Amino acid sequence: MRHAIYPGSFDPVTNGHLAIVDRGLRLFDRLIVAVARNSAKRPLFTVEERLEILRGTLKERPRVEIDAFEGLLVDYCKHRGTHTVLRGLRAVSDFEYEFQMANMNRKLDPSFDSVFLMTGEEHFYISSQFVREVAMFGGDVSCLVPSTVQERLRHKYGQGKAK
Ligand code: ADP
Repeated sequence: MRHAIYPGSFDPVTNGHLAIVDRGLRLFDRLIVAVARNSAKRPLFTVEERLEILRGTLKERPRVEIDAFEGLLVDYCKHRGTHTVLRGLRAVSDFEYEFQMANMNRKLDPSFDSVFLMTGEEHFYISSQFVREVAMFGGDVSCLVPSTVQERLRHKYGQGKAK
């Protein structure tokens, strides 16, 4: 069984993340989508909200598990019995951070490895941060996120009730 962890903030999950999950499922038998609890960023959604959104969005993918982790990614990987992490790469700007992180993690655990999937042309401009900003000002994010996320964003920004 090949399995990998797809870690991130997922604040909130976007169509870009979902495309990486679906492509990851072609490479791995199981994927653990893991929300980092100790991200330095100030989140819009709480970890519990993000987990709930991810569970709802990915419920039709039985080979995907949703989890959260705290502390070092390499420790979480060991705890989950895998050494492989899946990450998405958008632009050059992602590369430097990902390159540093992959190497730092390998320094901490030499058996650790990262698999990078290059984003598709329809998702390269999508980031959770831009989704939050566009939604905050009432912009249309329907082609960037699943409809449940769109609803949650509207609710968060007081633009209507979530179903
Ligand atoms: P982090 O806070 O760790 O950057 P994110 O939730 O922003 O976490 O993203 C998790 C992973 O998904 C990262 O590897 C990121 O590069 C990737 N990712 C995010 N958005 C996209 C996208 N539109 N296309 C491809 N990969 C993406």
